[in-house]
Amino acid sequence: MKTFSINPKEIVRRTLGPLYLTTAISFFLILHAMGYSKLVVYYVASICVIVMTVLLEFAFPYEKTWCKPDDQFFNEIGSMLVSTNLGHNLSRTAVYFLIAPAIVFWGSDGAPWWPTALPFPLQVVLGFIVWEFGIYWSHRMMHTTELGWRFHSLHHKLRRLTCLNSGYGHPVNFALTSLFDLTFLILSGAPAKVMLFTSFLSGAVNFLSHANIDMKMGFLNYVVNTPEVHRWHHAAERAAGKRNFGMQLPFWDLVFGTFYCPKDTAAPRVLGHDGHQPAGFFAQWLAPFMPKRAMRWAAIPGRATPLRSPASAQIGEPGGSMDA
Ligand SMILES: [Zn+2]
Ligand SMILES: [Zn+2]
Repeated sequence: MKTFSINPKEIVRRTLGPLYLTTAISFFLILHAMGYSKLVVYYVASICVIVMTVLLEFAFPYEKTWCKPDDQFFNEIGSMLVSTNLGHNLSRTAVYFLIAPAIVFWGSDGAPWWPTALPFPLQVVLGFIVWEFGIYWSHRMMHTTELGWRFHSLHHKLRRLTCLNSGYGHPVNFALTSLFDLTFLILSGAPAKVMLFTSFLSGAVNFLSHANIDMKMGFLNYVVNTPEVHRWHHAAERAAGKRNFGMQLPFWDLVFGTFYCPKDTAAPRVLGHDGHQPAGFFAQWLAPFMPKRAMRWAAIPGRATPLRSPASAQIGEPGGSMDA
């Protein structure tokens, strides 16, 4: 006779994901209800999410060795503080400058065609799907063109995934992402309130997708970009990296057939590609502009144990020629 046993560890694993998302949204809604300005709500709620993620990473790590900083630790911090802001703000400035007449025309309440009669949560879902359409194609383009891969490959050099390195990459990488997602969202005519909540959710899910937290998200893997889904995108296995281009939602991956998250296989623990990347922070900024990608500069050390599991042979490749 089959016995039924309760595994407390498994219960925690399955509860953490929904709890994480509910708490992150609550931070935003509570601050919003307290009447703070939009910027304060955005930044304070984002800081609360970062603190929560870091605490959970230490309490419930997916891979204990990833809690230990590696040789890229200071570059990860520098990238999170400087590269992301530089890239995103350059694009935001350009996008607002170019599309400002449209925003002035329809104001903060959105364009006349935006479905304001829908409940606010549904408007946010709609805004998020539009926003992700831009992200999906910019990310896919960075994997499938030589020029795009020059700027995106740094993010795939990561050998561990933690919320800190969600912001690890080249400034042009972040500029391209912002250029696409903001353009689509603004031209959709979304009201300012929808844009603000979409941006906050985007940041929160970005921290979650890179988090080193041992959580099983179940059906939520098909709703938001979870750590389980995004680890496959960073897998050392070449074909797996050509899947899951969504950064916050798997929606467009499901639509275009690039979603990959097998139910019966644990997410990979060996990550990163073998391509050359210089180890220095500013050398990493310069490398994509250099002929032969600055091969003579001191490089980030390679992986100690390259993984070649049988699963890699079963993953269909959706197209594209760059390593991942
Ligand atoms: Zn990628
Ligand atoms: Zn990533």
